[in-house]
Amino acid sequence: MGQNEIRVRRNPDSIGLQVFAEAITLTTVLKISAQEFRHRLGKAPRVLDGGLATELQRRGHDLSGEVWSARLLRDDPDAIERVHFEYLAARADIVTSASYQASFAGFASLGIGRSEAAALLRRSVELAVAARDRFQRANPREKRHIFVAASVGPYGATLHDGSEYKGDYDLTVSQLVEFHAERLAILASSDADLLGCETIPCLDEVRALAFLLRQFPDRAAWVSLTSPDGLHTSRGELLADAGAILEPVPNVIAVGVNCVAPAIVTHAIDALRTQTSKPIIVYPNSGETWDAQGRQWRGAWSETSLADLAREWLQHGARIIGGCCRTGPKDIAALSELLRGYQGATGAR
Ligand SMILES: [Zn+2]
Repeated sequence: MGQNEIRVRRNPDSIGLQVFAEAITLTTVLKISAQEFRHRLGKAPRVLDGGLATELQRRGHDLSGEVWSARLLRDDPDAIERVHFEYLAARADIVTSASYQASFAGFASLGIGRSEAAALLRRSVELAVAARDRFQRANPREKRHIFVAASVGPYGATLHDGSEYKGDYDLTVSQLVEFHAERLAILASSDADLLGCETIPCLDEVRALAFLLRQFPDRAAWVSLTSPDGLHTSRGELLADAGAILEPVPNVIAVGVNCVAPAIVTHAIDALRTQTSKPIIVYPNSGETWDAQGRQWRGAWSETSLADLAREWLQHGARIIGGCCRTGPKDIAALSELLRGYQGATGAR
């Protein structure tokens, strides 16, 4: 779909688009440009952090509510900051904010109004920045550059019915643009270095994000999809087409898959590579499946699994590697050790 085929409904009452327009002017104050990030990425593969929600759960936090991140951002922000810090201690290069599930509708269901919701979105980034500051103070000799990414979750994550793994939304591209506009604008004007658009299940949502990201040309972003097999989106379209849609968007610095089974990652890299020259980002989940009857996770996963698999992904061209659900700091520590060995050894692409 061409860009001019997207018609954004310009409702004068739409606070979202108004805030969005204001934020575009704000992004002149940049922490890091897309060009600079691309340059840094060219030097070495980067380590992304692991799962946030599942790590908080492992630490005993009750995340059973529908808008857990909103609740925790408000009630126990230090718990989130501590997990970010743990990932930095595990030598992640990029930490991702707790804004994945945060949406205005979700906040509203908790009785949180728009201005407080916007403040909580900004807080999610501030917590990651605070963890970076604390880590750098505690490790003054640490020279690696740490990036903070603001998580931009899919529309489906706000429905709480697994839609982000199905993608059978009943929304047009314009409606998806409208859904994402306000939150993206707020996160784009935050102190995050990057926008991490993740767990995207269908091409229409990729088109909506491509349209919006073009409005922030100096703001580096990645777009990552879900896929059942490495060949298709969760909705069943060709995964490679996501690469084609994003290829002409200059500030999209990486394209990839996340929260997918580790076994399909190599297929996904190969598929995307046919349609994009951009760096590939991959951060699968642990591949375990939730047994609802037995109320436990099933499947084998060890702390070296991610690092073992990552060798192949690097060879196939992945440039940013991390973990999603059910991966933790130990997985990231093992992965970091592997990737440090590649620093400087692989050329930019
Ligand atoms: Zn996940």
